[in-house]
Amino acid sequence: MHSASRAAVVGVLGLWASGPALASPPGDEVVAQIDQGSYQYILDELLYTHMGDSRGIKGPEHNLARDNINAQFISFGLDTHIETLSYGGNTGFNIVAELTGTTRPDEIYIIGAHYDSVKNPGADDNASGVAGIIEMARVISRYDSEATIRFIAFDMEEIGLIGSKNYNALHKHENIAGMISMDMIAYDPGDNRRATLYGRTEPIKQALAEALLEYGGIGASIGGELDASDHAPFDRRGVPACLLIEYDSWSNPHYHRQTDSVDTPGYIDYAYATDMTRGAAGWLVDEAGVLAGCAADFNADGAVDTLDVLTFLNAWSAGDPEADVNGDGQINSLDALSFLNLWAAGC
Ligand SMILES: [Zn+2]
Repeated sequence: MHSASRAAVVGVLGLWASGPALASPPGDEVVAQIDQGSYQYILDELLYTHMGDSRGIKGPEHNLARDNINAQFISFGLDTHIETLSYGGNTGFNIVAELTGTTRPDEIYIIGAHYDSVKNPGADDNASGVAGIIEMARVISRYDSEATIRFIAFDMEEIGLIGSKNYNALHKHENIAGMISMDMIAYDPGDNRRATLYGRTEPIKQALAEALLEYGGIGASIGGELDASDHAPFDRRGVPACLLIEYDSWSNPHYHRQTDSVDTPGYIDYAYATDMTRGAAGWLVDEAGVLAGCAADFNADGAVDTLDVLTFLNAWSAGDPEADVNGDGQINSLDALSFLNLWAAGC
């Protein structure tokens, strides 16, 4: 952002700081920043969803999409790494971005979406879900959370849930308190504004249904077990996990076809997908205890200004644990970069 517009933004935030916006509950404050224009930009421009593109495991755009997803998570200041997979002679990559919890770090919430496709542009299946987790990460990364949140872009889903099976097996010792797979969230031909939730454990489906309605205005139908997406490995061993999917997925005529593309006229419903994302974000905020008041306001005085940079630099040079902005347990130059990114993004 240009410095002149930066000053304008800070000025506007100064006005907001005295208004009622900061007094709203964290769910409303966070969800209000989930933006349809931003969602559409991610889906159309970063994830290779145009006619002729392929994020199939051998597709030319697969690793390009991986690199863009990874770069987005890093730009949000999240502690990000790639876990490499090997299956059937192919190499895959789960991309994991973490916002480490401040007071309940061992309690982990996962929001996942697979980015591989079936040799096609996979706009709905499943760049739509990936755009959702990136947009959520963009906003939620500006806040502190009591519990740990992991945004995971899974790979190799279409060849047998390989990415999520692998991740689940590697992380069995951890306390995963809730996991949602967002898979196909952008097709709503009848404008029904409904979702379907699948999984074995009821409470997580009920909580997500309530959040979808409250934060997204989306109704939900509660289904039973359906081991057809990345929640399944977690769900099968008793972790509270479920699939969030569009109501009309079974009748999607573009499913696994070349026409599952953002270029197919009238196909992708960006407003609906953004509201699905709002609902899932609200669930995350409520469950993980995301705290109101964004992290860029480092001195917590209600404004984001140069005082926050000074306060951060003092904490950083003193080795104050507060300065571990990316939550990796170390205080180094990466934290300074993360904080400056947060600060430039504002609240
Ligand atoms: Zn899928």
